[in-house]
Amino acid sequence: MREKLQRFMTGRYGVDELAKFLNAFVLICLVISIFGGWLPVLSVFYWLGIGLMIYNCFRMFSRNVSKRYEENQKFLSMRYRFAVKRERMKKRFAQRRTYRFYKCPDCRQMVRVPKGRGKICITCPKCRKEFIRRS
Ligand SMILES: [Zn+2]
Repeated sequence: MREKLQRFMTGRYGVDELAKFLNAFVLICLVISIFGGWLPVLSVFYWLGIGLMIYNCFRMFSRNVSKRYEENQKFLSMRYRFAVKRERMKKRFAQRRTYRFYKCPDCRQMVRVPKGRGKICITCPKCRKEFIRRS
């Protein structure tokens, strides 16, 4: 049986990080649809979960390994960017009492200035543009 499965899976893509993520998402969708089954709107989650499950199976058994690999890389880089953003937000939140954050109107660079200094002229460290804000 095990050997049969192994033979079946050779040349096929298998499980990756994206598959694990989708699996967890499918589980959440199905749990929502089970416990919220009395609300017709929530049946959307049932179909979403089923659809994603089918898609996940398709990916696992796919023979187009390079395409699936590419999808996984895209997912990983998205997850990484999300984590970086979350870290940045956390940091900003921790400093909210002592600093203010402004975006440079020219290059969108985030600039941190100390709070409570009244109106100040801020020079962007990236493009040297000056702008006035209340700190
Ligand atoms: Zn700038």
